[in-house]
Amino acid sequence: MKFNVDQDLCIGCGACEETCPEVFELPAGTSEVKLDPVPEALQASARRAEEGCPVDAISHTE
Ligand code: SF4
Repeated sequence: MKFNVDQDLCIGCGACEETCPEVFELPAGTSEVKLDPVPEALQASARRAEEGCPVDAISHTE
């Protein structure tokens, strides 16, 4: 599973990093995906981060 953060939508709130720091980090004010693809053990956590993004900037493909 691959995750993507739309840099034009991300407002840098940090919620995804709080929920799933193994996958998301904010090195320069917006969120970036650290792991590509995201290993199975982290996919549920990454999906929670996706669902929790207030501006729907996170998406994923199988
Ligand atoms: S939760 Fe969404 S808006 Fe907030 S930092 Fe993560 S991707 Fe950006």
